[in-house]
Amino acid sequence: MRLSRYFLPVLKETPAEAQIVSHRYMLRAGMIKQSAAGIYSWLPLGYKVLQKIEKIVHEEQQKAGHLPMLMPTIQSADLWRESGRYDDYGEEMLRIKDRHDRDMLFTPTAEELITDIFRSHVTSYKDMPLTMYQIQWKFRDERRPRFGVMRGREFYMKDGYNFDLTKEDALHAYNRHLVSYLRTYERMGLQAIPMRADSGPIGGDDTHEFLVLADTGESEVFYDSAVTDLTFGDRDIDYDNVEQCAGVMEEFTNLYARTDETHDEALFNAIPEERRKTARGIEVGQIFYFGTKYSEAMNAVVQGPDGKQVPVHMGSHGIGVSRLLGAIIEASHDDKGIIWPEGVTPFHVGIVNLKQGDEEADGACEALYKSLTALGLEPLYDDRNERAGGKFATMDLIGLPWRITVGPRGLKNGVVELTSRRTGESVEVSPEEAVKKVA
Ligand code: ATP
Ligand code: MG
Ligand code: MG
Ligand code: MG
Repeated sequence: MRLSRYFLPVLKETPAEAQIVSHRYMLRAGMIKQSAAGIYSWLPLGYKVLQKIEKIVHEEQQKAGHLPMLMPTIQSADLWRESGRYDDYGEEMLRIKDRHDRDMLFTPTAEELITDIFRSHVTSYKDMPLTMYQIQWKFRDERRPRFGVMRGREFYMKDGYNFDLTKEDALHAYNRHLVSYLRTYERMGLQAIPMRADSGPIGGDDTHEFLVLADTGESEVFYDSAVTDLTFGDRDIDYDNVEQCAGVMEEFTNLYARTDETHDEALFNAIPEERRKTARGIEVGQIFYFGTKYSEAMNAVVQGPDGKQVPVHMGSHGIGVSRLLGAIIEASHDDKGIIWPEGVTPFHVGIVNLKQGDEEADGACEALYKSLTALGLEPLYDDRNERAGGKFATMDLIGLPWRITVGPRGLKNGVVELTSRRTGESVEVSPEEAVKKVA
């Protein structure tokens, strides 16, 4: 992409309404624009990162054997009356009337609709297990929308639902989700710690939230510092292997890590004092097992192997796809701007031409652009006729992992400058060498 043809409305001033760094940088880098309280347009740069995150979520869900699908954002109230949640959900639910005066709503989550789909088509245990998921816009009329995309009213969420014959099968689905979530967050350069949590309006007993530690997080968390040493890494996983998934579950949840809702002083105090930590965290996902809560209320039953009709065991599992942009920036930035982890960066490398219009500099930039593109990388070429300082500030703000700076003086010696955004280190190398390093 050439910056002269891109839409990157960078703000010089720090917007007064933004209280936390991720919100400030997303506005300043022209990634989002608020259209109403807690409702945002995603401008090209923000949308690009959103898509990268979405792609990782899709890939990891499908590796786990979960089927992508899509449900509507506007739903009829009838199903929600069956489960009892039309009344229970309260003011967070955006209720709408259509022209025939029918009660509709903008989906805050989709347990009812998916259960209705399931019960309409599945009648036998032979068609299970089944896990389907979607990535779709949700609306919750939050009392205090704030912090940009972190607590929006409209937000993008992955929500997955498992249907199993037995509790054991459903717990395997739970563990599978835990494993796939660990992998998902790590690919985004994030450490998200599973913590025992409270189930809230979804209902049920077993639930873990995934939290990214950050001072600006809205949750208070208590944990054994040893949990921060755990990483999933690139281990091989067979998602059908019940023991293996249970083993990962055990490994990542047996140390003390809880949100304030389930915090237990006595258990916490049993941890050696130097490992006892209290911190703030951002909730980037949550998994639930809630048994037959919805299947009983909505009569989602199947015939078991013994011929008897039984309600199915279910769970639901969410990832805050749009909130993740904020969480990643909170976890990875400096005073100049964002520092994107490689896995989600909107472009891989920025090319800064120090003397636009200089035949040699222009030619070298074009050649770099071509070789990087040929390698399947996405460069962002700042080909505007602007001063170097402004170009550097923009590149630092939008936080691409690499910057290649090209100017007539370096080219005389056959070199360009390659700078790492994370370390700030620069080296002078030949253009070919720069391409090799970035790839
Ligand atoms: P919170 O405690 O932050 O209100 P929640 O527990 O109500 O979140 P869930 O129902 O667990 O949310 O939804 C799954 C995920 O969707 C959350 O883990 C979070 O990452 C994301 N999410 C929830 N509400 C919002 C919101 N208002 N804006 C952006 N993302 C959200
Ligand atoms: Mg909430
Ligand atoms: Mg929560
Ligand atoms: Mg939650």
